[in-house]
Amino acid sequence: MTTPTVATPVDTASDTPTYERLLTAVTDPDGREVLDPATGEVVGRVAFGSAADVDRAVATARAAQPAWAARADSERIDLLLKAADAIDAAAEPLAELLSREQGKPLNGPNARFEVGACSAWLRATAATELPVETVVDDGDTHAELHYRPVGVVGAIGPWNWPMMITIWQVAPALRMGNTVVVKPSEHTPLSVLALLHVLNGVLPADVLTGVAGEGDVGARLSSHAGVDKVMFTGSTATGQAIIKSSAETVKRLTLELGGNDAGIVLPDVDPKAIAEGLFWGAFINTGQTCAALKRLYVHTDVYDEVCAALVEVAKAMPMGRGLDEQNVLGPLQNRAQYEIVARLVEAARDSGATILTGGDPDTDAPGHFYPTTLVADIDDQNPLVAEEQFGPALPIVRYDDLEEAVAMANRLDVGLGASVWSSDRDAARAVAARLEAGTVWINAHGGVHPMIPFGGHKRSGYGLEFGAEGLKAVAVPQVING
Ligand code: NDP
Repeated sequence: MTTPTVATPVDTASDTPTYERLLTAVTDPDGREVLDPATGEVVGRVAFGSAADVDRAVATARAAQPAWAARADSERIDLLLKAADAIDAAAEPLAELLSREQGKPLNGPNARFEVGACSAWLRATAATELPVETVVDDGDTHAELHYRPVGVVGAIGPWNWPMMITIWQVAPALRMGNTVVVKPSEHTPLSVLALLHVLNGVLPADVLTGVAGEGDVGARLSSHAGVDKVMFTGSTATGQAIIKSSAETVKRLTLELGGNDAGIVLPDVDPKAIAEGLFWGAFINTGQTCAALKRLYVHTDVYDEVCAALVEVAKAMPMGRGLDEQNVLGPLQNRAQYEIVARLVEAARDSGATILTGGDPDTDAPGHFYPTTLVADIDDQNPLVAEEQFGPALPIVRYDDLEEAVAMANRLDVGLGASVWSSDRDAARAVAARLEAGTVWINAHGGVHPMIPFGGHKRSGYGLEFGAEGLKAVAVPQVING
């Protein structure tokens, strides 16, 4: 196999970014097959790396870091802006590759949206200011707080939003003068390596490299003495493994570990008016989103109307192969995730819950398609409520008393996001303040913004991403006193 490290700059003048060129750039004919989750067809082949490949990539990143950090901030800003332009120029082939590999449709809040978010995030990160802060200046003492590069950042990502999450990790790290080694999920390596290929068309050599592989590659990166900080998005179990493996070298960590987000619908809502917002809060990326609405608590006064309005919206949203322009929902990205969703829906059915729509996959059809599923009359202790389904199935729990709803929302040991739905903003904000979640949205769920800090509570992880807080997270604070 050829080396799996992808850092080769492209000649952007002569190398028009087409789908075939991008795929060729990241393909190793002897590498591991990557399958389209909608059809089972081979999308491409990618070389999976080893611990030795991680060692080489980290050594390269360490060697490149001092010169990168020595550049003026304005130069790094300029390069991030050029990187955003390069993504825009390659947007359609990147979206096609993402759609084929991840499964998400081109349209809706999916592949084109994700690629667009990548360039938008780069531009916002370039525009974010982190001025030196004078903390004491009283005539006797003058103390300033500066933010210095950490060094080498290891970026370990998931398969649900592979490109966007890579950019969330890479953009602030580069801006702050760090070099980065990326480890994409084994399920979506092509998309991420293609993205790095495009970025490396404008970045200097060796500041950004990628090593594809399985969990052992991530484990090597998170324990490596040459890595100073790990940015991780994925499961709580892997986050816990990273905490352990990084302990020896006391690495800084940002851990975004997903969750099981609750939404509380108050009795004063207009069910039809909120139904589409509820739907996309739960089913964006076919439910495979860390901060998606995964358990919905609806007051008994509006329960039946909210269920009916949701069913109507759900039935109007086409699911199918991502490359078909009309679809807005796709397959599960991998079989393991399909099995989780199927198991949890069956557990709900067996318990006597009502399947309002879905729950009946065509097991003879190709691909990992699971239909959009809404489950009513379900107990809060049911596994479909208590476990993260990470797919297109939403349990809808009835409540009478707001205290009971708040207690149910807070009872799990995760807390990434939550939402409150009401026509009374003050009432909703009062409930929001009581929810144990890193973000609480009002009359929406899951929207992120490059200037608004994002992070988890409890076992959903720690550390903030985005905006000035996100820049601080990939830097070392240094006080200059005197
Ligand atoms: P993981 O947490 O296992 O994978 C995330 C990333 O971590 C992947 O790149 C993975 O590599 C890597 N990794 C695996 N083991 C280690 C290790 N010991 N040290 C360092 N890195 C490692 O998530 P899964 O993809 O297996 O999904 C499992 C569950 O996590 C899902 O069912 C879902 O509930 C949740 N999830 C949450 C996400 C979120 O956005 N927060 C995203 C994806 C999943 P590789 O995949 O190549 O083995």
